[in-house]
Amino acid sequence: MLALDYQLRRSKRRKTVEIQVRPEGVRVLAPEHISQRWIDNFVASRRIWIETRHAELQRQLKLIEAHQADVRAASTVLYRGTVYPLQVEPDADQSKVCFSGGVVTVAVSRRVRKSTQEACRQLLEAWLRQQAAGVFNEKVAEWSACMALFPASIKVKSFRRKWGCCDSRAEVRFNWLLIMAPDEVIDYVVIHELAHLKHMNHSAEFWSLVSRYCPDYKRWQNWLKQQGAMLTLP
Ligand SMILES: [Zn+2]
Repeated sequence: MLALDYQLRRSKRRKTVEIQVRPEGVRVLAPEHISQRWIDNFVASRRIWIETRHAELQRQLKLIEAHQADVRAASTVLYRGTVYPLQVEPDADQSKVCFSGGVVTVAVSRRVRKSTQEACRQLLEAWLRQQAAGVFNEKVAEWSACMALFPASIKVKSFRRKWGCCDSRAEVRFNWLLIMAPDEVIDYVVIHELAHLKHMNHSAEFWSLVSRYCPDYKRWQNWLKQQGAMLTLP
């Protein structure tokens, strides 16, 4: 019988042999003392099971890919904590994004050379960034007056791993993706960054200042931890 290609992992603590079929290949987990030959024979004897399992895995992966494609072609947009229908108008006179009557409409100019889907994504991102800049400027003005803490400048940017930051020059920055989050979350991040103008750390004094203006801050912190990954444009 022909040997099947597999990756072998031995461990002292293991008592039984286990075959795992994964997208990247077959993996065999075995105790230290079992011979290579025994394992080869064992794997060969399970060949049909391995092939069936592999085919099933491929089928599942295809389903996941199809689902992701659906998400990419999403017909909705998340804005300030609410999901709105997204309408795309290809072949328009002029590219623009319009939000009215609870619908976000993206018109894509007929002169645009890239695909409608790609153009739509770019227009939507530009529109969301613009909204984010407006909302963060307003919120910072409001909370600055309230907290008597004023930043030197406010910017909305792309960050890979953070929602906001505040540096020693008193410049505050916010992740534009937050415009998709509910206003309570946006308020929390604004209060958090403004509080850093007084405490450049996460000390007890810092959190006490945050909780004075945002008593529910733990709830919004958790929201970001659990649902922050949803704040994204495919
Ligand atoms: Zn912080």
